[in-house]
Amino acid sequence: QLRRLLVRHHFLSRGRSQRASDVTHHKYDVIVVGGGHAGTEAAAAATRIGAETLLITQKIETIGALSCNPSLGGVGKGQLVKEVDALDGLMGRAGDYAGVHFSILNRSKGPAVWGPRAQLDRVRYREFIQSQLLNMPRLTVIEGSVEDLIVSAPDPEQPGKHRVTGVHMAGGVGEILASSVVITTGTFLSGSLFMGQTTSPGGRMGEPPSCAGLSHSLREVLGLKLGRLRTGTPPRIIKDTIDFSLTKLHLPDPRPTPFSFINKHTHCKPEDQLPCHLTYTTPGVEDVVCESLHVNSHIQQDTKGPRYCPSIESRVLRFPGRQHQVWLEPEGLTSDLVYPQGLSMTMPPELQLRLLREIPALHRVEIRTPGYGVQYDFVCPMQLFPWLQVKYVQGLFLAGQINGTTGYEEAAAQGLWAGVNAGRTALSLPPLSLSRTESYIGVMIDDLVSRGVTEPYRMFTSRAEFRTSLRPDNADLRLTLRGFEEVGCVSSERYSEAVRVSRNLSEALTALQSFTLSAPRWREKMQYTGISEMKSTLISGEEMLQHKEVSFEMLASIFPDIFAQYMEFSQRIKIEAVYRPHCENQKREMERIQVEESLMLPPDLDYRSLPVSLSDEVREVLDRARPDTLGAAIRLPGVTPAAIVHLLNYVSKTK
Ligand code: FAD
Repeated sequence: QLRRLLVRHHFLSRGRSQRASDVTHHKYDVIVVGGGHAGTEAAAAATRIGAETLLITQKIETIGALSCNPSLGGVGKGQLVKEVDALDGLMGRAGDYAGVHFSILNRSKGPAVWGPRAQLDRVRYREFIQSQLLNMPRLTVIEGSVEDLIVSAPDPEQPGKHRVTGVHMAGGVGEILASSVVITTGTFLSGSLFMGQTTSPGGRMGEPPSCAGLSHSLREVLGLKLGRLRTGTPPRIIKDTIDFSLTKLHLPDPRPTPFSFINKHTHCKPEDQLPCHLTYTTPGVEDVVCESLHVNSHIQQDTKGPRYCPSIESRVLRFPGRQHQVWLEPEGLTSDLVYPQGLSMTMPPELQLRLLREIPALHRVEIRTPGYGVQYDFVCPMQLFPWLQVKYVQGLFLAGQINGTTGYEEAAAQGLWAGVNAGRTALSLPPLSLSRTESYIGVMIDDLVSRGVTEPYRMFTSRAEFRTSLRPDNADLRLTLRGFEEVGCVSSERYSEAVRVSRNLSEALTALQSFTLSAPRWREKMQYTGISEMKSTLISGEEMLQHKEVSFEMLASIFPDIFAQYMEFSQRIKIEAVYRPHCENQKREMERIQVEESLMLPPDLDYRSLPVSLSDEVREVLDRARPDTLGAAIRLPGVTPAAIVHLLNYVSKTK
């Protein structure tokens, strides 16, 4: 405890936070409103590219707070964390500092869809983010609430074109000017909290919503279309009141894999990692949900919630009679609390306790804080350019949950890119976009601005048509070089390391491609029977490596003069060699889709039972919209590129 206090003191004592009244009437390059995951990355990125930046947030102590689950990454989301890190963002390093249980999800599948994930210590995560932000040159942090935007009247030469020139602070503090403003108010914009039949204004439990002026400016003054979404969180339960003997133990990976490309190790030692536990709901849980519906206002609303992180009420109503998984996740190394993932709920607290106690492992559980729901305004993201600036409003950028997404990783990734572009605009540099072919961030932003959202958007690997090349292992090669050379948001140390890795990988692959032997020679050298069926032409080292059983270590031990010098990169070389043909195939598939856009889809196609691999969400969207052509299907929100490939193959075959 003492060590933790000393670390906290060390981190925060050098902090650069000021009082709001000290900075009014000052003009900044960039103002970032909100210190959540989007806001912190936006402020840090704007600062890294050289913009004088001000971060305004309601409470400095909640900078870097994890509002809901104490975890980071996962399938699709892990790719975003790696990309944020490759662009020198904070999230990956914070995860390495705060992680207490690291695992790679989807390991049975190929590395392209591996999902780096960690359970986090909440306090440590906040500590890390705050220590970074409060010690950053060119960044000032103040506590306060932004009441409204300063908007200049539309230019008569360019009707409808406004310019945002700063913010008005609440409480009569005054105004602060800036060339660019990034709004990242998360679940706080006109936020309302729900528990049982009680509704109260709030952005998160114990915190007030954003001032009404902000919603008013966005909607009435700037004429933006806003929508409403919802989400919820489970009760936090006391560890000592759980019977873990009735759960299934889930251990972390024995050797934790860091998120950050610049970390060789995680802060938590392998032997200090904490386990998670798995249990299941019972029919009694379903009974409590059904009995409590009339006193559960949140569930009675039509507002859309997160499809892939639904409340227990939604799960029970959608899939009656099913048993649902409940993961019991640690909240931190010294915390006495556990987060029951899968049990987000909004019924009255006494019924929450009754519901939990229907689960055998929780039969005597006690609750520290009850679950609740939140509803909030979001800005329909089709009103944004791909560089996250609002169309027709100069100087205004939006990032995070305000754009209709859900999740820390989605928020951080947008925040970083909005911060880069807000900074560039302020410094009179042209804005930049990320493409779908180079990053998951590009996929997400393109989905948001070109298709919009009808429910909270979260990242999946299936959303990325080029996912075999957008792998977690190669995010540095895809983004760090561009991040330094063109964007300017990457430090020279990180850049040098990425250049070294890139040079070694390409040298190793060239060496593998040019090293050839006949099949009998390979058989003799490697004692490997897997090539006995091979044709008699020469086989390269790269082709050998494409065999599952052949590792780079094997090649390096047999031909040390050529390959041993690259041993440091053995895993990455193996992945590159295995994926090269897949990446080329994927490119051809995408070209085929472009050519086949006008392919007619049979009007009587039964999407609900089509014998191809489509998610329930995609089937539902296709069934509702019944697109005439493949091109029309591609443009439907929620229909993934992978689904289009399956559809194309099916229709071509049955024609
Ligand atoms: P936030 O993290 O919400 O941060 C917003 C910040 O803006 C806050 O610091 C706030 O103080 C500040 N702010 C707001 N208004 C002003 C103002 N006017 N002036 C100054 N500062 C301001 N995600 C999931 O993936 N799965 C879930 O199940 C899930 N459940 C959730 C449940 C709840 C109850 C909540 C609150 C969130 C949940 N989330 C969930 C969402 C997750 O927390 C967000 O996706 C993520 O935190 C969004 O990051 P953000 O930076 O956009 O906003």
